[in-house]
Amino acid sequence: MEIATTTLFVEPKCNCATMKQPSAAITSMPRSGIRVIMDLAMAMPDCIRLEIGEPNFATAPHIIEASHRAALDGQTKYTDNSGIIGLREAIAEHREIQTGANVQPEQVIVTSGAMGALFSTFTVLLDPGDEVIVFNPSWPNYQMQLQLIGATPVMVATSAANGYLPTVEQLEAAETSRTKVVVVNTPSNPTGAMIDGDRLASLVEFTRSIDAYLVADEVYEEIVFDKLHVPTASHDTDGRVVSIHSFSKTYAMTGWRVGYAVASPDLASLIRKCQEPTIGCVNAPAQHAALAALTGPQEMVDEMRNAYRERRDIVLDLLDRAGVPAFKPEGAFYMWVDISKSGRTDADFAVDLIKNHKVAVVPGTTFGAENTGRVRITLAADSNELEEGVRRLISEVER
Ligand code: PLP
Repeated sequence: MEIATTTLFVEPKCNCATMKQPSAAITSMPRSGIRVIMDLAMAMPDCIRLEIGEPNFATAPHIIEASHRAALDGQTKYTDNSGIIGLREAIAEHREIQTGANVQPEQVIVTSGAMGALFSTFTVLLDPGDEVIVFNPSWPNYQMQLQLIGATPVMVATSAANGYLPTVEQLEAAETSRTKVVVVNTPSNPTGAMIDGDRLASLVEFTRSIDAYLVADEVYEEIVFDKLHVPTASHDTDGRVVSIHSFSKTYAMTGWRVGYAVASPDLASLIRKCQEPTIGCVNAPAQHAALAALTGPQEMVDEMRNAYRERRDIVLDLLDRAGVPAFKPEGAFYMWVDISKSGRTDADFAVDLIKNHKVAVVPGTTFGAENTGRVRITLAADSNELEEGVRRLISEVER
């Protein structure tokens, strides 16, 4: 297959030349590199797919049955903009246990995945021109969403040397009078780094000192290997943290599109208001599925976590023996691999790997500029395919 690397990551210009151009915000937004590689991989039937960020497990039968039952019982109508009360009550109770803070159902908004929670939260908090501190590397959708609403992402680089953890000193250097939000993601996509309690406390304290908000994306909170996840909200004393959660990764429910935001009552009512003209509400049977996931048996969550941990250790060992450096993830289900020894950029390497070995990985620069020596692989793939894919990646590094 011939692929022109130079044009791969560039969006074609809109060809409606004789008409007024669609919005600059959307036409100038680069597509996520994850999707670009996914499109290539999907056109190649026997490709080993190490680029996708979704569990290779099926949604548990009791979750599917709950949604089926709800639909047969007539739960097929619009719901409250913020979700069905039973689910919001269960989430509020769950968050209270996790954070030790009092959480009321009015503070919970059920959203169309965590993506919906993030987009509504950014829309509520930001005006065009406001600045948002985002760490590099990080999940590309933050920058894409911010660009859509006209806010300015200010990227702060973290590195392997500091464990991919942000410091307050870096935030102080990046802060301006326009800084309104800081985004943290723990455990992190793509590195798997986790922010401990003391550091989280200092980040919350920093946002308080400059009167900004902290948006905490914790969608991988249950996928932790070596230590417990600390919820950012447990350090919030005055309602400036908005926590973003999801059923996608914890319960292998990516296609159901259910996530949620938890915020102070004032912010929560604005996030709810934001859903009124956009999605109305999340699909009703899917909300019943999410309720069954949260209140039903949790063994599956443990099984998936253990499988990811086992795969992490196998992959680390394979890479280590081949002398290919990788960051040891403490959580989430990715591995951030250093391919600089190949002498190629991340994008060239990813294209060579898919062309020569039929293995799809995500180029590092998808997660922020300067990551040209990195690719991200998923641990949420079939174990045999994962091991074979990593062997092929190693031989491409050595080529
Ligand atoms: N946040 C992070 C860091 C992610 O990696 C993802 C998905 O890959 C999401 C949010 C979105 O999750 P959801 O499927 O709930 O929209």
